[in-house]
Amino acid sequence: MKILVINCGSSSLKYQLYNMDNNEVLAKGLVERIGIDGSNLQHKPAGKAKDKYVFEQPLKNHSEAIKLVMDKLVDPECGVIADLSEINGVGHRVLHGSKFFTESCVVTEEVKKVVTECADLGPLHNPANLMGIEACEELMPGVKNVAVFDTAFHQTMPPKAYMYPLPYEYYEKYNVRRYGFHGTSHRYVSKRAIEMLGNPEHSRVITCHLGNGSSIAAVKDGKCIDTSMGLTPLEGLVMGTRSGDIDPTCIEFIAHKENLSLEQVMDIINKKSGVLGISGVSSDFRDLDEAAKAGNKRADLALRVFSHSVVKYIGSFIAVMNGVDAIVFTAGIGENDDIIRSRIIEHFDYLDTTLDQKANKMHGEERIISTPESKVKVICIPTNEELAICRDTVEIVTKKMVEDTVKDVLNNN
Ligand code: AMP
Repeated sequence: MKILVINCGSSSLKYQLYNMDNNEVLAKGLVERIGIDGSNLQHKPAGKAKDKYVFEQPLKNHSEAIKLVMDKLVDPECGVIADLSEINGVGHRVLHGSKFFTESCVVTEEVKKVVTECADLGPLHNPANLMGIEACEELMPGVKNVAVFDTAFHQTMPPKAYMYPLPYEYYEKYNVRRYGFHGTSHRYVSKRAIEMLGNPEHSRVITCHLGNGSSIAAVKDGKCIDTSMGLTPLEGLVMGTRSGDIDPTCIEFIAHKENLSLEQVMDIINKKSGVLGISGVSSDFRDLDEAAKAGNKRADLALRVFSHSVVKYIGSFIAVMNGVDAIVFTAGIGENDDIIRSRIIEHFDYLDTTLDQKANKMHGEERIISTPESKVKVICIPTNEELAICRDTVEIVTKKMVEDTVKDVLNNN
């Protein structure tokens, strides 16, 4: 079974084509600068003359980007399949499913309508996600599209965790509440961590997805009960360019002092804040590590503010779950930055939790990095959102195929 996974960002598109018969990635790639000057596709097929093919051409929207990707997938030189009909299903990452989607589902007209309605909660992503879905419908008629929502895993949160202390009518009228994001990643790594714990009947896992965007989830018995991101991916931890939690009054105060509009301040809080804002150096932790080592005090401060925010959330989720069995690190920083991991975990000495310093030195491997005596296991698990989307797609497409076959058999009798 061949499954294409598509992840449309606001101006980018990532894809992977899997052959699930042998768990092989046939091709993957990235389209950048969609709708902006300099659009380009980096296509990486397996087993071809070159590892990477780069194509530069204007791409007005995600539809054009998908069309280009499809062309390259069947191209005689850099393609990996003879015809698009070999693709059995397409899994799409969809950013915001509001309260309507608790799990992945086949895309229908009704689903598209609801995704469109959720667009005011994910204005940069949902329209792009939808355009990706519609381009696939047009280019591969009859192939099932599956929507995998970034918010779905967090839908098990109880009202006490998702309700904002605002006038209740905003929740009733506009669904203003905490949703949480990176759900596919938190689901994937928490499931893997529970397997590594030996699939106990009860488990309390804290998953730290620390990347350019960062979030934390409290996962009790496999279900999310709280998370750091909110109505949008702006709340919670300090991030690359996003502020995370701040006093909302800062917005009004800065707007007033700098004579800026609400939109301008929101742009600063989304794109010029976080560790970039504090350091003035970069949003990338590799640059910050280097600058801090070279004596840049603001880079060092940014790293410390970031770790402090992670420590605070882990501590609060330990309280929420009345304990913890495993703390999991994933995503770019979580998988690679041993200094940050060490700086965070040293705060949990009081729980008899200790890192194995040698194991902690590794990068990007699935591994327990706490000592054997450590009461709480600390685990590094590389996330694989594409594989999780692919697995959901296989499951849903297979189920649908069986249902359709049963229907055909019943109709023919
Ligand atoms: P992600 O959003 O998961 O792709 O993570 C991207 C971020 O991970 C980058 O912006 C870096 O800050 C961070 N990162 C990636 N590799 C490393 C590394 N080797 N050491 C420290 N941070 C890293």
